[in-house]
Amino acid sequence: MDIFNLWKEISFKLSSVINSAAYTIWIQTLQPLCVKGEVLVLLTESNTSRQTIEKVYIKEIKKALNSLDTPLKDVQVIIEEEKHHFKEEIDKYQKKKLAPEEPIANGNSLNPSSKYTFDTFVVGESNKLAYNAALAVAKSPGAAGGFFSFNPLYIYGGVGLGKTHLIQAVWNYLRENNPKLKILYVPAERMTNDFVEALQNSNMQSKDAFNMVAFRNKYRNVDVLMIEDIQFLQNKAGSQDMFFHIFNDLYQQNKQIILSSDRPPKEIGTLEDRLVSRFEGGILVDVSKPDIETRIAIVRKKLLLENIIVPDDVIYYVAERFDSNVRELEGALSRILLYAQLCNLHTPTLESAKDALQSSSQSNRALDANDIITAVCSYLKISKTDIMSKKKTKDVAQARHIAVYLIYNILSMPLSNIGQIFGGRDHTTIMNSRDQITSRLPNDRALEMQIKDIKGILNIK
Ligand code: ADP
Ligand code: MG
Repeated sequence: MDIFNLWKEISFKLSSVINSAAYTIWIQTLQPLCVKGEVLVLLTESNTSRQTIEKVYIKEIKKALNSLDTPLKDVQVIIEEEKHHFKEEIDKYQKKKLAPEEPIANGNSLNPSSKYTFDTFVVGESNKLAYNAALAVAKSPGAAGGFFSFNPLYIYGGVGLGKTHLIQAVWNYLRENNPKLKILYVPAERMTNDFVEALQNSNMQSKDAFNMVAFRNKYRNVDVLMIEDIQFLQNKAGSQDMFFHIFNDLYQQNKQIILSSDRPPKEIGTLEDRLVSRFEGGILVDVSKPDIETRIAIVRKKLLLENIIVPDDVIYYVAERFDSNVRELEGALSRILLYAQLCNLHTPTLESAKDALQSSSQSNRALDANDIITAVCSYLKISKTDIMSKKKTKDVAQARHIAVYLIYNILSMPLSNIGQIFGGRDHTTIMNSRDQITSRLPNDRALEMQIKDIKGILNIK
């Protein structure tokens, strides 16, 4: 059974019965882990969140499960520390998902992400050489001879422009089409640390020690070596020397080497000439800033992958504003989507998108009381006039208490100043507001959630 798809269907059902802020916080963060008997086991982040889920949401989750065509009858929520009780089951289910990813040369290297593939990469003027070179290497790694040499493949360019995505796309492609190959993927910093550790352990002979023999095995006993951010070797003569030898060794055996860097080899200060010329002996490709068409296409692709529909004006707006770093562009898009969810909108509008980015660009300037009041009002759907007035209806008073509590705790503003902001109330009134919230918080999950959501809107933890 595919528990990942099953969980997708369940969460889809839940999304129409649970309010969207709560959905984002409690449901979206759950992970399907395994099945034990007739029980679907889900993982959550902490004991507190488990308690909330068990208290408030578990019934709905079960209902959604039971409405689907599946032999499973029940749901259990566990936390990280309990995973060992389910070891066998987890192995079974998680392996299915990660199927051919095992033969990595060393277990403690960071595993690339399966979402970075050639399919999910948008090709434009700014990156088409790099894309084609990476694809060629993926199709025939280490191919020797011929007129062109693709060894090493050296991809360079600024931050957030797709270097890691392309390298990991090669990794994913090889895993799928050439699963026997031994691939090692590491940041240059990691390689240097390993080297230093191996040097320190050089007297240790036991077979578990990470000494020079182990180091050599790790780095030389591979078919494809991928090193990210090779500029890290700048000013590190010892590491450069070590890498020169690894490089030659692999190169002579027609093993593929793939490197990324924030600049071309010549511009890495103090990089030995012999390394510069090795790096330049293969294919050097750059990724540069994407033009507007490419940025729009990137946004569309991300939305398509997540199955989300967003109006064109919002797409243009975000693509227009983030022109030099795709990671920031993606971050802005997520923020826009999250903000719309928190405001209970079906889909973001140009206006909500602007608001979403506004509050994030505010992280550069200090947050003030007005920001907090605005967030409280928009989240609790109370007008600003009401919250600032003397009105004492339950909703308004509650919103005011929350605003006071947050202003006091986030800005550490004196009570009398807060009183000024709320139309000259005296400091004991303000203190009462604050204390009401403080005393209710430990036993009131709904309130705790509201506060968490509002802090989310304000971009604070
Ligand atoms: P770099 O390694 O160059 O700093 P990354 O490869 O980590 O950048 O890219 C940052 C983010 O932008 C990633 O989530 C990546 O998927 C995305 N990205 C960059 N370029 C593209 C592209 N052309 N198409 C799709 N996504 C892209
Ligand atoms: Mg990177």
